[in-house]
Amino acid sequence: MQDAYRQIIQAIGEDPLRPGLNKTPDRAAKAMHFLTHGYRLNIEEVINGALFPSTANEMVIVKNIEIYSLCEHHLLPFFGQCHIGYIPNGYVIGVSKIPRIVDVFARRLQIQENLTMQIAETILKYTGALGVGVIIEAQHLCMMMRGVEKQNSRMSSSCMLGEMKTSQSCRNEFLNLISR
Ligand code: ZN
Repeated sequence: MQDAYRQIIQAIGEDPLRPGLNKTPDRAAKAMHFLTHGYRLNIEEVINGALFPSTANEMVIVKNIEIYSLCEHHLLPFFGQCHIGYIPNGYVIGVSKIPRIVDVFARRLQIQENLTMQIAETILKYTGALGVGVIIEAQHLCMMMRGVEKQNSRMSSSCMLGEMKTSQSCRNEFLNLISR
């Protein structure tokens, strides 16, 4: 990856050997390696059995989870917040696991819509919840810094599964709880 970054710097018209840039390929490769570490995470190892029997049947909400991801079209960051709700069905998941599940999928080359869906489907699959809702609100540097240069636009995406999709009252409760 270092060589590839050296070529990019050259293609920009810069001198990759000048002081200030001579270690950049190395640093940029390390940064990109970190920004895509989701590919090297295994969802089962991340959850690590943190599913606990519970008779709780009220909606569980985790909101304002920070998201940092890279758009797969421009390799530019998009970032924002993720809100998650699920309706337990005999099991609850350790609360610290939810942001880590988010990172497994966010730290890859992504589009926001797929990221939203992958998080929701994973939580549904591993918790066996009656319903799952995921909403992501994010700002995309590929829109803000280039192209249409819309600096204040935010994109919202949602994925509702199970009762969160079929029951209007569940969905309303979720939307109500995350907007507080
Ligand atoms: Zn983009």
